Amino acid sequence: MYQQQQQIMFSDLGLQPIVLQAVQKYLTTNEDLIRPTEIQALSIPTLLSPQHRHVLCAAETGSGKTLAYLLPVIQQLMVDEQKHGIKRRLDHPRALILVPTRELVSQVVKTCKQLSHTVKFRSLGVERVQRSKVIPQLASGPVDILVTTPTAMQLLLKQQMVSLADTRYMVMDEADSLFDAGWGEDCRQLIDTIQTIHHDRPRKEKMMIVSATLPRSVHTTLDKLFPHLVKITTPSLHRALPNLKQSFIDLQRFQGNRQLALLEVLKKNIKDEKTLVFCNTKKAVELVHQWLETKNVQALPLYKDAPIDRDEALTRFADKTSGDNVMISTDIASRGIDTTFVDHVILYDFPTSVVDYLHRVGRTARAGTVGKASSLIGRKDRMMADRIRRSIREGTVMT
Ligand code: ADP
Ligand code: MG
Repeated sequence: MYQQQQQIMFSDLGLQPIVLQAVQKYLTTNEDLIRPTEIQALSIPTLLSPQHRHVLCAAETGSGKTLAYLLPVIQQLMVDEQKHGIKRRLDHPRALILVPTRELVSQVVKTCKQLSHTVKFRSLGVERVQRSKVIPQLASGPVDILVTTPTAMQLLLKQQMVSLADTRYMVMDEADSLFDAGWGEDCRQLIDTIQTIHHDRPRKEKMMIVSATLPRSVHTTLDKLFPHLVKITTPSLHRALPNLKQSFIDLQRFQGNRQLALLEVLKKNIKDEKTLVFCNTKKAVELVHQWLETKNVQALPLYKDAPIDRDEALTRFADKTSGDNVMISTDIASRGIDTTFVDHVILYDFPTSVVDYLHRVGRTARAGTVGKASSLIGRKDRMMADRIRRSIREGTVMT
């Protein structure tokens, strides 16, 4: 998958020895040599360079974008302290990472915590602004990296719990979602706040925009916001993942009955350890969940306000020994969640855009692993499915 990068090592990217140690520890594999993925090899030197202040990193799902931005951020935080004498202050995070969901807040913070065993820095994730919980966390020491959603960030500012006066690094992960889903205005305000603060300073802010999909509308927005944006994209962006086997099942064979089709796909793939099923609505997740129960198929439902706590559901699903091998979800699990353990993604409902298709099937075949995706195709889905199949066949870009 990462053939072009075969010769490049993490140590070729301008990272300091202690950061290299942290990566090595984080990516403990059986192989002796851990190599950067393509997007990491391309992004890390650019993000470390003082010339490039606004950088877009776009690469396919599961290609290791989190480390691609985190490693340069933690290295620069370290250098700011050691070389430029920057002081850490209470309630003044020096880096801000924005993500669209609570699940992603906890996932990114988990990665930060693991890296900070080796490189010393403090990270805090704020999923919801509960004063009684957040204030003691902020008071117990300076936070270097704050990970949160745009809405929670705005609240933290409004309630004057956090100041962005020292925030020099800003990452927008899953940027197209952030700019799309009604958060656009929040993000723009946060960008503006940080840029205004840095306007008169010799050392300017750095902004990193990260995404696996880039609809044209987002390109236009970004070009307006950042006229000198450096754009890093991999050739695989918006193309079929090479290790992903994608099938399309025509519902005609089942007289249009999606539930029967799902049951057959599940039965045919009984050997799979972990299967993630996507539906378009919360209602559909509930119905499919109940129906599967009547067929003695145990599944975990995941959606906003689901009866099972979302973190608990994801943890149980990730646990190899839990026996919870099927999860049914809305698009809440489709963005950024690192489900490297998932063998099979089933699209019970077909998504309404190619971008959503790429994110959903991208929950498997991550980081060079293999995976399968099966889509149930009804009459109304056929046109888009045909377009996707054609670009898989021809290896062209999906739009
Ligand atoms: P993305 O954000 O691009 O979808 P993630 O950052 O979630 O991808 O990473 C996907 C998985 O790949 C994670 O489990 C991560 O630990 C792993 N990973 C990251 N970099 C490497 C690497 N250089 N070699 C092997 N695995 C990696
Ligand atoms: Mg990601």
